[in-house]
Amino acid sequence: MEDKKQAYKDLLDETREIHALEMAKEVLEWDQETCMPPKGVELRSRELSALSGLIHEKTSSDHMGELLLQAQKQIDNEEEGANLRELKRAFNRVKRVPKKLVQDISRLGALSQDAWIKARNASDFSLFSPRLKEMISLKREIAKHLKEPGQTLYDALIEDFEEGAREATLVPMFSSLREKLSNLLSRIMEKGDQADETPFNGSFPRPMQEKMCKHVAKTMGFDFEGGRLDTSAHPFTSGGKNDVRMTTRYDESDFRPALYALIHETGHALYEQGTQAEHQGTPLGETSSMGVHESQSRLWENQVGRSRAFSAYLLDTAGQYFGRDIVGRNLDTFYKGVNIVRPSLIRVEADEVTYNLHIIIRFELERALINGTMEVHDIPAAWNKKYQELLGISPSSDAEGCLQDVHWSWGLFGYFPTYSLGNVYAAQLYGKILKDIPGLDSKLQKGDTAELLQWLRENIHSKGRRYLPAQLIEKACGESPAESSLISYMENKFGELYGL
Ligand code: ZN
Repeated sequence: MEDKKQAYKDLLDETREIHALEMAKEVLEWDQETCMPPKGVELRSRELSALSGLIHEKTSSDHMGELLLQAQKQIDNEEEGANLRELKRAFNRVKRVPKKLVQDISRLGALSQDAWIKARNASDFSLFSPRLKEMISLKREIAKHLKEPGQTLYDALIEDFEEGAREATLVPMFSSLREKLSNLLSRIMEKGDQADETPFNGSFPRPMQEKMCKHVAKTMGFDFEGGRLDTSAHPFTSGGKNDVRMTTRYDESDFRPALYALIHETGHALYEQGTQAEHQGTPLGETSSMGVHESQSRLWENQVGRSRAFSAYLLDTAGQYFGRDIVGRNLDTFYKGVNIVRPSLIRVEADEVTYNLHIIIRFELERALINGTMEVHDIPAAWNKKYQELLGISPSSDAEGCLQDVHWSWGLFGYFPTYSLGNVYAAQLYGKILKDIPGLDSKLQKGDTAELLQWLRENIHSKGRRYLPAQLIEKACGESPAESSLISYMENKFGELYGL
């Protein structure tokens, strides 16, 4: 007798196969960033493109469409409903875009990448702008196919990274952040730059930093039987569940960059390792969205990693590797030294307060580009003007200005806001965690993160894609996504640190 759920089971089998191809692709990408010999690049790009083609074919096949249709009649619980909802959504989004357009974008992506690298090296935006112009016109084209009633073109693109997020809610959220954070920044600047960084300067051999990083990752709960730590130019995390690859980078004159990149990436990695084994390869066993992913890394990096309590543990741990007298054995110096607020031109080096201002600038510009209210050749001037306005500094070259990020050259429009959404979610989640776990700080001081991780496992990691990102946050902290927790967290923390 035919199983009553045969189509649903077949659908999951097919989905797991696609997932396996995606994971194979991630291992190849990880290998390229960490240890591939330089001459391997040509073969690697063919391997990756072959896999992408295969994934695209399987995701949008008629067979898949048929399975989705049949499985629809067989689901009878919330979990199966969530799996089907996500699979149908992915299928429909792929189906709605003409194949020719997808191929054009991927071809242009390679050219545009190349032009971006050349333009950045020459610090000359005009070398990149013709490709960027083409890219924006293709992305607008794609958005027209994907756009649903009531959505803007930009909304249709955000959906790739943050399901359910809309300009209509992001605009007021970000303009409130813009106002409150630039106000906080100017109050901090009026006080003057008080941080003393000399205690952090020294000689910190890379092998010792590596040992320390592994120690800290273990303390946070990272399972080295199901993951690795390696080195790459730009730290990242890839893979999933029982094979998570993360990287950091080392500066032998200062241990902070490696340590905080490690804490950030471990936050991402713990999320992957915390997904449910039984649902691997299906939406229920995946992570929710870019924003939720970033909330996990930022929560560990900032709310935990840059707290006074966890600083005590980190200072003690660094002392085990670099000598007891590190940073003058002074907790106050350490805490201040990992929380320096200083306007800078480069997003990836920004502190907690200014980081979101960098994002808001990109959000405002890319919305205007996609919605058609700004021209590509106006980017450099608009960029510099916004930096002057929000951060009080202006780049002296395009390389340290509008050419610094890789995102637009890949056509990743709608990605930037997920960084700030991650910060917003992190502050809300941590507010709830502090209520739910009494005395958390005294545990963190000793490096005891077990209860915190348990909370994240239960409320976020194990949920997979059961809910939309905003619903997941609401279920976890009892309120829908809102910026007020992040603003009060920043005002309290930096108000105290800088004596405002
Ligand atoms: Zn991240």
